[in-house]
Amino acid sequence: MIKITHCHEMKEGDVFVCGDCGLELTVTKSCGCADESACSEQGFNCCGEEMQKK
Ligand SMILES: [Zn+2]
Ligand SMILES: [Zn+2]
Repeated sequence: MIKITHCHEMKEGDVFVCGDCGLELTVTKSCGCADESACSEQGFNCCGEEMQKK
């Protein structure tokens, strides 16, 4: 079971990587949502898989 990353867990400076193609995303600004799934209800996906914190 792959853990879904919610936006409130994504802090400035965190790097998320796709285990399939290697795409990396760096968080340069956190959103501060109170609702943990406010802007990431489906998680952050690449290649059909959840991106994982590096
Ligand atoms: Zn990918
Ligand atoms: Zn958010």
